[in-house]
Amino acid sequence: MNILVINCGSSSLKYQLLDMETKNPVAKGLVERIGMPGSVLTHRKAAGDKEIITAEIPNHTVAVQLVLDALVNPEYGAIKNLSEIGAVGHRVLHGKDLFSQSVLINDEVMKAIEQCIELGPLHNPANIAGIEGCRTLMPGVPQVAVFDTAFHQTMPPEAYIYGLPYELYEKYSIRKYGFHGTSHKYVSQRAAVLLKRPLEELKLISCHLGNGSSITAVQGGKSVETSMGFTPLEGLMMGTRCGDLDPAIVSYIQKKENLSSEEVNEFLNKKCGVLGLSGVSSDFRDLEGAAKEGNYRAQLALDVFAHDVKKYIGSYAAILDGADAIIFTAGLGENSAEMRAKITKGLDYLGVEIDPEKNNTRGKEIDISTENARCRVLVIPTNEELMIAMETYDIVNQG
Ligand code: AMP
Repeated sequence: MNILVINCGSSSLKYQLLDMETKNPVAKGLVERIGMPGSVLTHRKAAGDKEIITAEIPNHTVAVQLVLDALVNPEYGAIKNLSEIGAVGHRVLHGKDLFSQSVLINDEVMKAIEQCIELGPLHNPANIAGIEGCRTLMPGVPQVAVFDTAFHQTMPPEAYIYGLPYELYEKYSIRKYGFHGTSHKYVSQRAAVLLKRPLEELKLISCHLGNGSSITAVQGGKSVETSMGFTPLEGLMMGTRCGDLDPAIVSYIQKKENLSSEEVNEFLNKKCGVLGLSGVSSDFRDLEGAAKEGNYRAQLALDVFAHDVKKYIGSYAAILDGADAIIFTAGLGENSAEMRAKITKGLDYLGVEIDPEKNNTRGKEIDISTENARCRVLVIPTNEELMIAMETYDIVNQG
């Protein structure tokens, strides 16, 4: 069975068509600038050349139509006709506490996803537009929603409740939700395979370090703590997001810089993190380069980031009462040997010891620990598309 995975942003649509027998993509691509001048679809068949299709793409339904046309195109398509798509899996950012797992989409589910818009105002409307486009153009093909928040619904109340009046949780659903759930779930499952142990008996600390970063404590395959919160702004300092702050700083900046509440929110999401701190870039490759050339602020940004990650690892080891493995994933975690070495230095009390030669790797699944290390350190490239496809496959084959 082929499964189409769709990930919609406000003006973009990423897709992959996966063959579930081989678990490999047979085609993938990206639609950009939806609803803007200069919209474009970049399509690639597995092992094929890039095909660039320019067209007017006013909305997500037109984008979906273009993607379907590309997939069945006799020249650069991957399938003969649309009946070869068994189901569609949609990434949905926010499922509030309404969704603790992936779900087959029907009208009732659509209403519930709409209820989550207030907590995911930038992403959920785009996710909904993508789903609606597919439902219109592929009637009869099962559609499944896979939520970024669902994996973290296993957190106990002591992990997700903030120190605010309880009425605010009841009235406005203010609590920690956590994100990157699909990635943390995928790498946890892969860790069990790599360690050759049942997931149910493992204590894992999953570090998703990319442009957005989060850390999750995973006990027996279930999320019990995570660093992102009510929104993806909490937790680690990130590419452009500030991460944890004294909340009093927010109104102080607002007053001093004369910003509205929307402006300060935008500032904390887009102008802070390693970008704001370094003044160089949000990209860790640029920071590592600048630091080597003696840029103090770039070095400081790297130091603060590594310190932050280490602090979370320590606190999650406390929550889990130790850890069998620490997992590094996403752009930075998968690729930067330097950052992995910096973070894992001085974690001897946990039984961490990495082998510098094994650590000198990029983007492949590997245990980089020394032979006798008590707590293993794993590099596991994330694959959110495959995880979405697997969840979709399981749901459509259940009944
Ligand atoms: P992601 O959000 O998972 O796509 O990760 C993107 C981030 O990964 C980029 O902003 C880079 O900072 C980081 N990254 C990717 N490759 C490398 C690398 N070779 N060394 C250091 N950082 C990297």
